[in-house]
Amino acid sequence: MAALESSKRVGTAVVSKLYPTRSHTGAAQGGIAAALANLEDDSWENHAYDTIKGGDFLVDQTAAEVLCKEAVDCIYDLEHMGLPFDRTADGRISQRRFGGHTKPNPIYDPSATPGTEAAKPRIPVMRACHAADRTGHMILQTLYQQCIKQGVTFFDEFHMLDLVMVDGECRGIVAIEIATGQLHTFHAKSVLIATGGFGRMFKVSSNAYALTGDGPAIAYRHGIPLEDLEFYQFHPTGIYRLGILLSEACRGDGGVMFNDKGERFMEKYAPNLKDLASRDVCSRSIYQEVRAGNGIGGKDYVFLDIRAETINKYKTSPTGQAVDSAWVEKRLPDIIEFARTYLGVDPIREPMPIQPTAHYGMGGIPTDVHGRVIQDAANTPVPGLYAAGESACVSVHGANRLGTNSLVDLVVYGKRAGRAMAEYASITKFQPMPPHPELPTKTAIDGLLSRTRTEPWVRIRDEMQKTMMDDCGVYRTEETLTRARDVLIGLKERYARLGVQDKGTVFNTGLLEVLELGCLLDLAQATVGSALARKESRGAHSREDFPNRDDQNFFAHTLAYRDGDNGTREAYKPVDVIMVEKNGEMTTKYPLEIRKY
Ligand SMILES: Cc1cc2nc3c(=O)[nH]c(=O)nc-3n(C[C@H](O)[C@H](O)[C@H](O)COP(=O)(O)OP(=O)(O)OC[C@H]3O[C@@H](n4cnc5c(N)ncnc54)[C@H](O)[C@@H]3O)c2cc1C
Repeated sequence: MAALESSKRVGTAVVSKLYPTRSHTGAAQGGIAAALANLEDDSWENHAYDTIKGGDFLVDQTAAEVLCKEAVDCIYDLEHMGLPFDRTADGRISQRRFGGHTKPNPIYDPSATPGTEAAKPRIPVMRACHAADRTGHMILQTLYQQCIKQGVTFFDEFHMLDLVMVDGECRGIVAIEIATGQLHTFHAKSVLIATGGFGRMFKVSSNAYALTGDGPAIAYRHGIPLEDLEFYQFHPTGIYRLGILLSEACRGDGGVMFNDKGERFMEKYAPNLKDLASRDVCSRSIYQEVRAGNGIGGKDYVFLDIRAETINKYKTSPTGQAVDSAWVEKRLPDIIEFARTYLGVDPIREPMPIQPTAHYGMGGIPTDVHGRVIQDAANTPVPGLYAAGESACVSVHGANRLGTNSLVDLVVYGKRAGRAMAEYASITKFQPMPPHPELPTKTAIDGLLSRTRTEPWVRIRDEMQKTMMDDCGVYRTEETLTRARDVLIGLKERYARLGVQDKGTVFNTGLLEVLELGCLLDLAQATVGSALARKESRGAHSREDFPNRDDQNFFAHTLAYRDGDNGTREAYKPVDVIMVEKNGEMTTKYPLEIRKY
């Protein structure tokens, strides 16, 4: 989206380590949020409120309002580019429900008997636009085709290894051509980082193997801080042990989670929205059930049930009407296929074993609403450097992202960043490149190629993933985080001695995987450092030793700076809060509230 927008104004190239249509966006299933109000009443204001509450009030409010307002036009832009959305019977874009997306309940009565319809202040709303359960695939294909049409130059399978920074200004990048092993420098007036997520830090993850956080790690090494890394989202419904995602659309369309006793346990934890509570709440609830011995067969998983008979029994279909298996199959074709292929379970007939899976980094490279990378609490931009997508943090997701809000973040802020970087490029002259900007990268690669192998690199990766999963996962404490910090220091020492076995230049994937692991190790250290410093529980960051949200001390974004080889230094940046006039007095537009679903 950024490239498409930028190329309308200036010459634009995309450097991508994957063939572009293999990017993880293509795996996004359930939908993209926008308050189109195609099936029921809705407004961008509802969407903004949900986004801020979903993020446990750590969301920057101006950024959230921009997101939810501009989302609507962005969806129509995508439609006009040819994106084949599912349709309603009368031809409008179809929408489905997703966790945490709500609207005020028109029959709400605060004095109503708890548990009744009238006692619910807010009710689920159909806001997620979708193309079956292949929404991301369609977005990616549509935008790629538009970029080709628009004359964007693609450097496919070029892997960025460094940024060229001179006097705090970005002048280009260094990348390796995967097919030849040759290093290239790209001289640019503005550079945008959109390298996606870093879920491969954890053992059980929904993320593709390529999601190793290269962009944020490289920025971090250049002294740019990383924002809010301690907030990492675990999606409640990953396939047991494999982590492959079973979209929240399963529950949006009526699926229900059960424990070993056959109880719909979400009734206990989120009496109002139940299975459609936010992801952090659902993931913690699964852990609680497992800890209480209510996992299936006493094990560490529960069931997700999307059988038509279950949806009908609990009246959880989007319309409340009865559905049949053919309807389920039509709404969730890929999910059903995944379960059949990877689990050997037919979800039309049986429930699916699931456990929380590492899914999405709310944090990343800090930016403003124009996609400009910022370097401090005063929001000072880094000239020439931009970021968007999951690798960036603007911050519209705060401490916990709502489902379908990532895809919309990509298109809204991708477009804004693309416009801003092109405008900057059109008023800026090329600044000279320093001599041999590729030298630090070349030295690192030569080192890896010249050393003999001390141990297989995957051993270090596996230990990092296990540590992060066990000690910096859904629940954390001072003790587990300190242990993780120490383990990571040991892993970094072993990493520094690594050599690679393949000494070749052509498709040396071993070499690249080692370099990616280096990025993950740096991000893991920054994540653990940020998590140790935040002594409260908020959104996806659950400290068992500090179980409450502490707005007095921690209503602020973390900025983690690299401090030596193994350390981080945390600074804090105020949350952007919108003030409005009410009865002649200035007050906050989105007052802090205790988050309940
Ligand atoms: C299984 C799954 C389902 C999801 N479903 C939804 C959903 O329904 N709705 C929703 O809103 N969100 C969903 N998400 C989240 C959302 O899909 C992602 O957050 C989003 O697609 C990330 O997009 P991106 O453009 O930032 O990165 P990606 O799409 O991951 O693209 C990253 C790009 O960066 C390139 N790259 C990375 N490193 C380098 C490097 N060193 N050099 C050169 N290029 C590099 C890659 O080649 C790739 O092209 C889902 C995520 C997963 C994993």
